[in-house]
Amino acid sequence: MIIKPMIRNNICMNAHPGGCELNVKQQIDYVRRNSPVPAPQRVLVIGASAGYGLSSRIAAAFGAGARTIGVSFETPAKGSRTASAGWYLDQAFRKEASAAGLEHKSIIGDAFSHQIKEETVQEIRSMMGQVDLVVYSLASGIRIDPDTGEMYRSTLKPIGRDYRALSLDSRTGEVAEATVPAATEEEIAQTVKVMGGEDWELWIRALQEGGVLAPGAVTVAYSYIGPKLTFPLYRDGTIGRAKDHLEETARRLDTALRDSGGRAWVSVNKALVTRASSVIPAVPLYLALLYRIMKEKGIHEGTIEQCVRLFSEKLFAGEEPPVDSLGRIRIDDWEMRQDVQDEVERDWEKITAETLPRLGDVEGIKEDFLRIHGFGFPGIDYSADVDIQARTDDNG
Ligand code: NAD
Repeated sequence: MIIKPMIRNNICMNAHPGGCELNVKQQIDYVRRNSPVPAPQRVLVIGASAGYGLSSRIAAAFGAGARTIGVSFETPAKGSRTASAGWYLDQAFRKEASAAGLEHKSIIGDAFSHQIKEETVQEIRSMMGQVDLVVYSLASGIRIDPDTGEMYRSTLKPIGRDYRALSLDSRTGEVAEATVPAATEEEIAQTVKVMGGEDWELWIRALQEGGVLAPGAVTVAYSYIGPKLTFPLYRDGTIGRAKDHLEETARRLDTALRDSGGRAWVSVNKALVTRASSVIPAVPLYLALLYRIMKEKGIHEGTIEQCVRLFSEKLFAGEEPPVDSLGRIRIDDWEMRQDVQDEVERDWEKITAETLPRLGDVEGIKEDFLRIHGFGFPGIDYSADVDIQARTDDNG
């Protein structure tokens, strides 16, 4: 089958297996060039098939030789429909890890469910006994409560009043104005239920009760803050409430884990084009400015560069990682640098459809958006016939 990107409402509906494989290989190459990366040897990544979770897994496996278990929710190819990008990315990780002699297991299913937690506990027990690092990197629009069966939806809305902002279509590069209506109390509560810390805490409890969380284990979840100009929609909006809850959960987990020498952290990461961030109004536009400015200054990073720096300079550098006043690790430090943010603010005021190509790295955004789905790699022949039924191997 010949696969071209199918994009609707900033969501890419298909993926290219060869491009996804190249995406993973390029991340592995980066890690190898920067090896060794300090990391524990037995690692569980929840949300391991894409974005920050995939890069965390690659950094631990290929940088530190860790054995890894990755949990994700992805769909295989069916009929003429390709698999999801994360499916192919996970396949590629497994292929490369096997070739490198790295032990690994991927579990595909709903991480919010009791069943997948139990399956993971059993897998840890038989494969590695216990885990020393748990990375929590889920991004999801829905969560089914494992006890009540009730479905919750996360929304990205401002709180208190409507938000009117310019937005960028990641595919066409067009600027449009979007109004996002203020969230209801119910929407706020549902977003916290999906993207807050409740499930992270359930995971840690399940691992402890199953006896598979090693004494001294470290857990980290990812958060975002961003610039003032996206505050109304992001940090002061519904998702910000969920991130507040995630951060409160980290403090609670940290107190509990310290008794056995363990730690729980939140790392605030840099804004990047991932499947989750592409659908947020105003954010792709901010990203276009940010990419240009950070590239010009030579400090632009992708998820893999962020994860390698997080492990080697913050989490596992041998000393207590430096944190902000709320106890969070800040790997968004370069994004939030005063000179970077001053330029973003200055240029934000000047954005129009005409100025954007000059002010923003629209090509860079489009390229990243395509590449997370395996498209837009110069090394891939996209006119070639492709077998979309990616190989399934015997090792999860
Ligand atoms: P992503 O969409 O690239 O990846 C999300 C992962 O979660 C995938 O592996 C997916 O399979 C998995 N997942 C989703 N629902 C699941 C379920 N029910 N069961 C099992 N797995 C499931 O997301 P991302 O952008 O890498 O975000 C990961 C975390 O990093 C989020 O907490 C996000 O807020 C945070 N973060 C993202 C950015 C950014 O700019 N993208 C910046 C800072 C922090």
